[in-house]
Amino acid sequence: MKVLKFGGTSVGSAENIRNVSDIIQNIDGEKLLVLSAMSGVTNLLVELSGHIQQQNQPMIDEVLEALFSRHENEIELLFPSVEDRKYMFDMLQAELSELRHMADQIYSSETESSILTAGETILTKMFSFYLSTEHIENRWLNARDFMQVSNLENPNTERVGKLLQDQIESQDRAPIYVTQGFVRINDRGEISTLNRGGSDFTATIIGAAINASEVQIWTDINGLHNNDPRIVENTFPVAQLSFEEAAELAYFGAKILHPQTISPVIEKNIPVFLKNTFKPTDPGTCISAISEIKGLKAISAKDNITAIKIKSNRMLMAHGFLRKIFEVFDKYETAIDMITTSEIAISLTIDNITNLEPILGELQAYGEISVDRDHSIICVVGEGLIDDRGTPRLFEILDDVPVRMISYGGSNNNISLLVDTKYKAAALQNLNKKLFRRAFEASV
Ligand code: ADP
Ligand code: ASP
Ligand code: MG
Repeated sequence: MKVLKFGGTSVGSAENIRNVSDIIQNIDGEKLLVLSAMSGVTNLLVELSGHIQQQNQPMIDEVLEALFSRHENEIELLFPSVEDRKYMFDMLQAELSELRHMADQIYSSETESSILTAGETILTKMFSFYLSTEHIENRWLNARDFMQVSNLENPNTERVGKLLQDQIESQDRAPIYVTQGFVRINDRGEISTLNRGGSDFTATIIGAAINASEVQIWTDINGLHNNDPRIVENTFPVAQLSFEEAAELAYFGAKILHPQTISPVIEKNIPVFLKNTFKPTDPGTCISAISEIKGLKAISAKDNITAIKIKSNRMLMAHGFLRKIFEVFDKYETAIDMITTSEIAISLTIDNITNLEPILGELQAYGEISVDRDHSIICVVGEGLIDDRGTPRLFEILDDVPVRMISYGGSNNNISLLVDTKYKAAALQNLNKKLFRRAFEASV
């Protein structure tokens, strides 16, 4: 079985839904489709959840109306038959009235997640019904019945696989299954999410769960580009990445992939293909265990980074000092991304600042603390990058952009720079021209 994930833009209109239906019919074998909500819908649901929490009835009505018309337009375009439309409008009304009733309940994190994940339910019901009206045999699966993911860092894919298999076997087999991305059931048995952009992660969790032959992630761009195309001109798709390279790029901000997308498939060696829904014949990017080409592949950037410096001329080099510092972060379950040390100071970065106050409180015992907010990690990735003769050009960036920290040599395939976010765009653009001859030639 292949797992095919289509993102918000790919299913964002009746025309695009038809296009996706054509694409899947040209792919051989059994398929399990993981679909996002229509583009813009999850953002509306985030707004709705805020208004429900505030019990702001006029705004609740306004957003529900916007959600209705967003889907109404596409239902009208997708279903010519009056009965089919009625069936879909009844489904839509039922889903929206469930959302309306959330306002009568005590607001909890489960209420929030139930609201946020409603877009996927509506869209998968529309999509599955559309396939049926086109006489394409398929089954709709409720992801809440099998996406039991307690630990976001290390999903138990065996368990998901068993529950999913039970769902598949409880009905007649079909060549196509359709299910929702983004939603999960947490360790308390409550509806929760895989965080924004999480449908990519759903696809690879399911891929590992059912030992899929491959996972295809269909989006609105022709694969993973060598740099962020929203910020930098003259970017180009990278044809092939190793799992490790793709995992680094996703973790360090390449928006095309949810940060954790790659981890579930590495152990099972399941390739992931990134493809463009609007140019299906473009090759896109293949992510697998193979890394044929060594050297620099791509650059990404992760925002909302906080740098913490601990300065202590007495204790830093003392035996056991670093362990004590790490224990503070461990106690508050806060991951450290970058770290550099000098004779008298240690600098490190975190992105989760939920427990920043108590962490700083405890660190004060070890020295003078300073904190820099609103920084970005720029991550330069490629296997064997350190040995690439062009890599030293990276350091020419120091002429133009103030760099707060550099991490070099932690692994052979990653060099990270920490800059104030206000310099991020300049740094990405600059590095693109300095490091990629192709980008440089296109720019002159
Ligand atoms: P989907 O809704 O299909 O999940 P996303 O918007 O989450 O799509 O991801 C695709 C977008 O990611 C692209 O349109 C592009 O603007 C952005 N993006 C950021 N960095 C990269 C990159 N390195 N390569 C490709 N796309 C990127
Ligand atoms: N619809 C969800 C979001 O917008 C999940 C996803 O698209 O991957 O975050
Ligand atoms: Mg996405």
